[in-house]
Amino acid sequence: MTHTEIDALVRQFLVDTATRGTPHPRVQQVVTRLTADLFKAIEDLDLTADEVWRGIEYFAEAGATHELGLLAAGLGLERFLDIRADAADTRAGLTGATPRTIEGPLYVAGAPESIGFARLDEAGADGGAEGEVLFMQGSVRGTDGTPLAGARVEVWHANQLGNYSFFDKTQPAFHLRRTIITDSNGRYQFRSTMPMGYGCPPAGTTQRLLDLLARHGRRPAHIHFFVSAPGHRKLTTQINIDGDAFLWDDFAFASRDGLVPAVRRIDDPARMDRHGVDRPFASIDFDFRLHRDMAGAPAAEVARQRAAA
Ligand code: FE
Repeated sequence: MTHTEIDALVRQFLVDTATRGTPHPRVQQVVTRLTADLFKAIEDLDLTADEVWRGIEYFAEAGATHELGLLAAGLGLERFLDIRADAADTRAGLTGATPRTIEGPLYVAGAPESIGFARLDEAGADGGAEGEVLFMQGSVRGTDGTPLAGARVEVWHANQLGNYSFFDKTQPAFHLRRTIITDSNGRYQFRSTMPMGYGCPPAGTTQRLLDLLARHGRRPAHIHFFVSAPGHRKLTTQINIDGDAFLWDDFAFASRDGLVPAVRRIDDPARMDRHGVDRPFASIDFDFRLHRDMAGAPAAEVARQRAAA
């Protein structure tokens, strides 16, 4: 069939059959387009019925095992949405903020809140495998450099084994997840343990597809953030831990210039003492810069299903 014949057939199937009231115009537009694109791919690639059903069964399994969010990251779909959001920001004249990067599927709403400082890890929660102590600190500012008091810094990251609390039920609730409200100087600080990189579940649907594409499913070590402040656009981003072997080889394409702060190793006994630790620790300084709210700019907040505890 030609593409024109396929377009006509899809109209016949999905549009001409709309005899029971008024169709939702956006849903009809999107479903018609995607169905026609799928039919064209089947025609052009001469997909067999076996292959088409294998694809449907793949999505069914990926959905049932909660891997569609991971698949969206691994196919670059989530990164593609960020590229489009960046382009929209540029068109709206929004420049100078901290770069955005993907949220990923592992945020959990409802983490404990504190002002200025939070400790993210519970001592002993990782069975003695806490790893290196990490302090991260800085400020939240507008793009003009003004410190923003009362900004919300929501932070979450993986443990030493590359697993996230809530999804990994062996960890305490909200382990390595907190919300820090910046102090009167717009500053935040947290103490945690150095996260490790991680990979897709080895037996899962995402990794199975990546294997067929001869791709790895690894993410370099990183820390996720939502940063928001009254009158400002919400920022969704991550920082990467410098030195990770996969730093610029992330299966989810989330590493970006401007999001790889230096990691300093502190072994000065006076500073260790001041930080309340008895061994050398890692320290990262990072300032977040947020755009002001702008009428008419595309929304910075993305509505998607998120876990809550
Ligand atoms: Fe992550």
